[in-house]
Amino acid sequence: MTTAFGDLLLGNQRYARSAPRPLQGIARAGVTIVTCMDSRLDPLGMVGLRLWDAKVIRTPGGHVTADAVVGCILSTHLLHVHRILVVQHTRCAMASGDDGALRAKVAAATLADLGSLTIGADPDQRARLQADTTMLRDQPLLAEGVVVGGFLYDVDTARLEQVS
Ligand SMILES: [Zn+2]
Repeated sequence: MTTAFGDLLLGNQRYARSAPRPLQGIARAGVTIVTCMDSRLDPLGMVGLRLWDAKVIRTPGGHVTADAVVGCILSTHLLHVHRILVVQHTRCAMASGDDGALRAKVAAATLADLGSLTIGADPDQRARLQADTTMLRDQPLLAEGVVVGGFLYDVDTARLEQVS
């Protein structure tokens, strides 16, 4: 087995000594957060929530992808979710250009050729956020009464702005 994960397994040993162990997989605050994979984001902390409070679905850009939609649907039927926040953020690479620009950025950084990989980048972030939240609101398989909001998180000020 590779030792590339040794420090992380060590970290887990420390964590397991005192980690909270909620017995149920529900979202105690009734919230699902769809947000970007960016390491500058603390999805729970940014809205004052903690472990056990919310479902968190992370995608590149915080885009509401097909898998994210499935997660939202299931969370509203099985996990007590009645509010969904879609949170995209400033300075996001996924909003810095189109797929061609991002592939060129990767090529410049590592010389890797991503070929025709579909990345799903979208430089019109606010329009994308609007479209993603509208698509979720129109999703007929969400549980009844679910509220969907679209938000932009500013990585410089840590403030959330409701966009849709
Ligand atoms: Zn991002």
